[in-house]
Amino acid sequence: MAKGNLFVISAPSGAGKTSLVKRLRAEMAGLAVSVSHTTRAQRPGEADGQDYFFVAKEVFERMIGEAAFLEHAKVFDNYYGTAQSSVEAALARGEDVILEIDWQGARQVRHLLPGCISVFILPPSLEALSQRLQNRGQDSEDVIARRMNDAIAEMSHYAEYDYLVVNDDFETALGELKSIVTAVRLREERQSEALAGLLQGLLA
Ligand code: 5GP
Repeated sequence: MAKGNLFVISAPSGAGKTSLVKRLRAEMAGLAVSVSHTTRAQRPGEADGQDYFFVAKEVFERMIGEAAFLEHAKVFDNYYGTAQSSVEAALARGEDVILEIDWQGARQVRHLLPGCISVFILPPSLEALSQRLQNRGQDSEDVIARRMNDAIAEMSHYAEYDYLVVNDDFETALGELKSIVTAVRLREERQSEALAGLLQGLLA
């Protein structure tokens, strides 16, 4: 049975990862995004079960104990994790799955599933990143300064990834992400099964 591809996408906050992945899914068929569990507070406009499964710390810790997570990490003092069951079921059905997770989670997934494809999205400059973080509006200078430090720490792990995409022009970055997905889907091991009939005819 064909197995789906697992894409791991990381970025510092403010690099535009969520918007890029949203458009990528809208424009390419067969891409599922895993909904993570988190203990952080729900932000205005976020929906439980859609953006995240928002759970209490005790629930999250119980899930860790039950080995329910493919990966989990503490990011900005909150827990975040990818539930194993839904990802594995989707991959087994042959669906491609995207995980939007931080570098710590990416490292765990790479270790467990070495066939995954990892992509790091970079901002075009520190100034642009700082601007994007400030444009979110709701946060104090202190919070923004801390986010910048966290962003730099996240970006220091870029070399662990298979692909780097710079989100300067949104449409260009989107096109590059699409190219990565397309190239992975055209790999021989994936195609040989889908094209079994054609190959048999061609080589008869
Ligand atoms: P936010 O709270 O802004 O939605 O996300 C904060 C950070 O947590 C982002 O870097 C995001 O990639 C990361 N994150 C979201 N879900 C997960 C997850 O399931 N696992 C890990 N390791 N990181 C996650």
